[in-house]
Amino acid sequence: MSEFQPFPGVMLDRCGLNRQAVFDLADLPGDIVGETAGYRQLILIGHGGRGLWEAVTKSGIGGADPIDDFTVRTIHRWMSEYQPGNRYAILYPGPQPVALQRLGALAGWHHASPFMVGIDAEWGTWYAYRAVVLADTHFALSPAVDPRASSCFHGRASPCAACQDKPCIAACPAQAMACGSFSLARCAAYRLQPDSTCAFTCKARLACPVGSAHRYDADQLRHTYSISLQTIREYF
Ligand code: SF4
Ligand code: SF4
Repeated sequence: MSEFQPFPGVMLDRCGLNRQAVFDLADLPGDIVGETAGYRQLILIGHGGRGLWEAVTKSGIGGADPIDDFTVRTIHRWMSEYQPGNRYAILYPGPQPVALQRLGALAGWHHASPFMVGIDAEWGTWYAYRAVVLADTHFALSPAVDPRASSCFHGRASPCAACQDKPCIAACPAQAMACGSFSLARCAAYRLQPDSTCAFTCKARLACPVGSAHRYDADQLRHTYSISLQTIREYF
């Protein structure tokens, strides 16, 4: 019998937490998370598409962070159902910084788009990291991915490499990518303008054809971008 158990992801999938990757902590770079003593594995959980937002809305959960609250509640329920008695800790969401994009790159989910939102061939940019869990589990590991590979590796090359026209660049009203790299200052300044068309969305993201079937609806976009707008207001 294999020492690894199949990952019991069906319940998470049903709740819209439909991206999961399992790493053995011993295989991860030492600086990627902090203290991990007493745990064997790191489980990276994300959402792709609209399912999570639909589940959150249906649950009636309120408050300032309904997605985080729903995610944490779901993970507690999932662990108690599928790994009762197992030790685990939810690192993210939480106060400790976690290198989410580095973990995403190791999982094969993350490639940087010109506007610096992560992209992959399946979901486009319509996904996000929702939780990082340390656990003393024996789940089957996700296939290893070399995040530096520029050619197709496990079918997970960046879609931007093959995108000739790069419509996202021309679609940005602030021309935040016009100089060949992304200018957060230009993007933020434009988003803060009173008549900005990017207060609660990103025109560049909408212009990208990759994974467009998974594009968030207006409500989810507004929720997502109202959080980043608030962060920009505080920072700038
Ligand atoms: S439009 Fe092309 S270059 Fe821009 S994010 Fe999409 S795939 Fe990448
Ligand atoms: S939010 Fe608007 S200004 Fe910022 S990168 Fe996207 S399209 Fe450009």
